[in-house]
Amino acid sequence: MAHQKTTLPHKTCPVCQRPFAWRKKWEKCWDEVKYCSERCRRSRDKGATHA
Ligand SMILES: [Zn+2]
Repeated sequence: MAHQKTTLPHKTCPVCQRPFAWRKKWEKCWDEVKYCSERCRRSRDKGATHA
């Protein structure tokens, strides 16, 4: 429990400003991933910030 050998890369979502970790589904496109979720990506496209 003290330390974890597998340190996953992290990025910060520019929409919600939250850090998110690497996910298996992004293993082939991690460099292109900018948003933590599809929802954030869409809200970025619209520029709307309503929930
Ligand atoms: Zn986000």
